[in-house]
Amino acid sequence: MHNLMQDWPLRVNSILDHAARYHGDRPIISRSVEGPITTTNWAKTRGQALRCTQALRRLGVQPGAVVGVMAWNTARLLEIWYGVPGAGAVLHTLNPRLSVDQMSYVIDHAGDTVLMVDADLLPLIAAIRHRIPKVEAIIVMTDRAHMPETDLDVLCYEDLLAVEDGNTTWHVGDERDACGICYTSGTTGNPKGVVYTHRSNVIHALSMQSVDMFGFGAADTVMPVVPLFHANGWSIGYSAPMAGAAMVMPGRDMSPPAIYEMLQSGVTTTAAVPTVWLGLLNYLRDNPDLKFSTLKNVFIGGSSCPRSVIETFQNTYGVQVMHAWGMTELSPVGTVCTFKPEVAALDPAARLDVQETVGHPPYTVELKITADDGTQQPEDGVAQGKLWTRGPAVVGEYLHAGTSATDPDGWFDTGDVATIDPNGYVRITDRSKDVIKSGGEWISSIDLENAAVAHPDVAEAAAIGIAHPKWDERPILVVVRHAGTDPSKQSILDLVAQRFAKWQVPDDVLFVDELPHTATGKISKLTLRTQLNEQNYT
Ligand code: ADP
Repeated sequence: MHNLMQDWPLRVNSILDHAARYHGDRPIISRSVEGPITTTNWAKTRGQALRCTQALRRLGVQPGAVVGVMAWNTARLLEIWYGVPGAGAVLHTLNPRLSVDQMSYVIDHAGDTVLMVDADLLPLIAAIRHRIPKVEAIIVMTDRAHMPETDLDVLCYEDLLAVEDGNTTWHVGDERDACGICYTSGTTGNPKGVVYTHRSNVIHALSMQSVDMFGFGAADTVMPVVPLFHANGWSIGYSAPMAGAAMVMPGRDMSPPAIYEMLQSGVTTTAAVPTVWLGLLNYLRDNPDLKFSTLKNVFIGGSSCPRSVIETFQNTYGVQVMHAWGMTELSPVGTVCTFKPEVAALDPAARLDVQETVGHPPYTVELKITADDGTQQPEDGVAQGKLWTRGPAVVGEYLHAGTSATDPDGWFDTGDVATIDPNGYVRITDRSKDVIKSGGEWISSIDLENAAVAHPDVAEAAAIGIAHPKWDERPILVVVRHAGTDPSKQSILDLVAQRFAKWQVPDDVLFVDELPHTATGKISKLTLRTQLNEQNYT
């Protein structure tokens, strides 16, 4: 029998249409780059996005053209989030923390012809202007009064929109058209471009609507602290309006007092990497009068979340933590730790153990683990293996790579090492290149690091393997101390020993002033190893 259902293309602009039509008044509170806190809503945001689409068309932006956007999380970014794909163009989000070389590389490699940039970030573009010849226009995302002084030939965003009336329609195209590009930060080699389609973004946002995933609702106010330029903005730019949620956009000030202030503007649900929350919880500890008035849920991912963060949020502040795992290549969410009935029935301590896992996948994410020889490993919570995934929002091929990113059966190697338990809960134990193998046995560097940061004087820790004549490799810990503290090596190792077998306990603790980080704020073990080699640490 023929298909008798409608062929309704899954394009992201329909998400904003829905939010504007059925949740039009829901507020979007934003700390603007210019300073003041502004309020808008989904209906007005749609109007602005349509004007943005018109402005891009007037500049000659054709469907399929790539528009680079370097911006903090503000209401204006949400307009552009939909205005660019509305013109049929491809939204390439740029991480301002990339090095000069990486930034020039990704802008050129993606073929950006237009750049849209927050005013304070313009110097980053000025520094590389001569290296990005394909860029024809630079739009500064502010109004005339706040245009920065510059030698560059630039356009003013609000001026461009002011001459448009919003009386247009979104580009009509196939749901498999490119919609966005996000580069992985390139801990090894050059950054790699992941090209999302309209379809993959809509499907991923739909899968996040499950109450066991993000489960946002129209009664929620969602604040993405995670920048929307990081890993497809964790899909929040799509999944929050799809649910009709209100939003709070925190702007560029990521200091704990600023984040706290924005959380207090009615936020029920928020999301960011663990370091943001470590900073906020320290600030709250120093200011015991401060509590959360509305916050209920916090999604934490991007790197492993220490147990102490989960415990403090839940026990001290009554905020539920959802530990999540994902990758740029997965659009990005792969798993979220919510409680299946088997877990809900456990006692609190056992439930906390489960929350150190990254949880289970939504519909649309398939997972498996394999041994070195490629055989599938049992999902018993013990056997470790390479973690593979496939699904409709998983990368098939990197931009301009010319070869598939998957095996012939469509499985993508995540580069992570994991266990999966009989309930489907995934525990990430390592990245494959960070694995520590001692005497033929794996030691989880992530678990060692989490055990070390549970020490009150340890601010940050990295566990790495050092060559050893007998055991191949032995773990050591590289530790940054909290300012003004002086913990002994032994006190850290004693704490680690409480959770590890004797042979797994690191051989040494090295104190450093700071650890090297990637552009997404993760510890760069590659750089750390190079630094230690240069210091001849063996
Ligand atoms: P980048 O590689 O550029 O930092 P991604 O955000 O795509 O960008 O990084 C994805 C990787 O981050 C995953 O492959 C995994 O190694 C790590 N990761 C993400 N979430 C977690 C988590 N909850 N626990 C441990 N590792 C995580």
